[in-house]
Formats: sequence, structure tokens, C-alpha cells
Amino acid sequence: MAQHFLLTAAARTLSLKAVFRMGEDKAYQTFCAIRWADTDGTPVCPRCGCVESYSISTRRRFKCVGCHHQFSVTSGTIFASRKLSFTDLLAAIAIFVNGAKGISALQMSRDLDVQYKTAFVLSHKLREAMAIEAPGILTGTVEVDGAYFGGYVKPANHKANRLDRRLIANQSGKRQSVIIMRERKGRSLTYVAKREADGIAAVNAFVADGSVINADEASHWDVLHGRYAAQRINHSECYSDGIACTNMAESFFSRLRRAEIGTHHSIAGPYLAAYAREMAWREDYRRVSNGGQFGMLVAGATASGVSRQWKGYWQRAS
Ligand SMILES: [Zn+2]
Repeated sequence: MAQHFLLTAAARTLSLKAVFRMGEDKAYQTFCAIRWADTDGTPVCPRCGCVESYSISTRRRFKCVGCHHQFSVTSGTIFASRKLSFTDLLAAIAIFVNGAKGISALQMSRDLDVQYKTAFVLSHKLREAMAIEAPGILTGTVEVDGAYFGGYVKPANHKANRLDRRLIANQSGKRQSVIIMRERKGRSLTYVAKREADGIAAVNAFVADGSVINADEASHWDVLHGRYAAQRINHSECYSDGIACTNMAESFFSRLRRAEIGTHHSIAGPYLAAYAREMAWREDYRRVSNGGQFGMLVAGATASGVSRQWKGYWQRAS
């Protein structure tokens, strides 16, 4: 029997060992090569796009011949104003891609011996890079489903004090629905809303005409039959009838649920969309080697511009 891809050597093209063996100079060169892949590593001014620059090699900076702007390899990327060494940055990305269900900021801070805050912000910047390359419009056969996350209400100690948590009055109001739209053999898009039925708007916005929708028996999906060819699967009877199924959507929820419970223990409401996007990325690229994922993430992270949300996050917060 053929060996599972994830067990083959082809799936393991990157290791922490390799990153640390590089040393700081090689890590810097690797970073430059990925950042300026289009010009074979030749620096490009982030202000005017000029490809001629003077190198101020002692400070690892460049000065643009055209506009005299000084920049570094991280200028204009989510790693702008970084304080970590390039080795640590690359190691952090390696640790991040290797975590199938995500990596908690605490674990990363221990692995790299950096502050929790540093690991927290870096992880969110990497999620932002994953979000940048999310697909625009989905086509073909698209599975659609929703699931609820967050807003957990702990049952009271004594049975007599316990409330019926199925009633809206006894819920926290923080529960949100993640809606997944997933192309078969393609890409995935996530959407966070108050209710699963709000996913209708997302499907209408992001799934092209002529696509075939696969959804479960939940009645709010019925309206999709008006615009799309839709195949439904009744999960109380089976999970696949040979034509309709939403098993790819369920795989995504399985990963996000395990990340929520097993890795992060809870996901705060405002960040749910970022974690959902992260898990969709991990699902879509699960058959890409870890070195390949690493390259995609570094390239995405360096191409995605300065992080508005996360640059100087703790400085602003305190
Ligand atoms: Zn310039």
C-alpha cells in the first residue's frame, strides 16, 4: 500500500534543526531571497519600486538610488519594526506551519524563549498573512456548512443551580457561527456571523453562478436552490449518498474545533475569524510539504504590507 503523504520524506522538507543551523547571515539571505523573489533577491524600494539601491551592509539597510528612501528587507511587511533575529523569525514560522491544529502563543514563547506578547503578536501577523491570500470567488462544486464557536457557559456547581443552556436567555450572547464554503479539490473561504443562516449572504457574495452547492438538511439553505444547482445530504440518514456530501466542510470544522479545544482552550470572539481563516489555510495546503508551506507563508507575510492591526499592538494597548 502506498505510504500516506504526511508520512513520506517529501512532506518533511523543513526542520527547526535546518533553520538554526543556517545561522543569522544565511537566515537573512533566505529572507531577502523570499522577499524579493521576483528580482532574484535584488532589493526593491518599497516607496518608489526602484530596483537600484546602495547597500548599507553594516546595518543591513538599503538606500534607494531613485528617491533616497532608506529601507530594510522587512520594511513595508508585517515584520516591519521587528526585534527578533532573522533566525528566530524563521524558526517561529517553522513552528507555526508545523502545528496541524495551530500553535498556542504560550507554546511558541516557550519554544523560542521570547515573551508571550511577542509570540502572540507574531502568530496573529502570520494569520493575517494567511488571510491575505484567501481566494476571492469560489466555483465548481462547493460545500457549505456552519458551526457554532465560543460563548461557552460553564454549568453551575450544584445541580439545583444549573440553568437550561439551550435557552437563549441563559446563553452568553457571545456565541458566533463560522460558515465554511469549500471547493472540492480547491480552496476554502470562511465567514463569521451571528447565525448560521447568515451564511446565505456569504454564499451569494463569494460563490459564482453555475456552481453546484452541497449542503446538509438545515432548512435555511433551501433558498440557495433558487440560484444554484444544490445537492442536499440528510445527516440523520447518511454522510454521503455518493453524490451529495459535506465531508470536506466537516473536516475543516474538525480542525477548527480541535484547535479551539485542544490548542488554544478558548478563542476570543474578535479573533474567531482569524483562527477560522488559519484553519482553512491549513486544510487547503495540508498536502503541501512543510517547507512549501513555510515558503508560502514567508512570501505572503512579506508581501502583505505593514500590519495595521498588529503593529505596535502592545505599545498601544498599555
Ligand atoms: Zn525609492
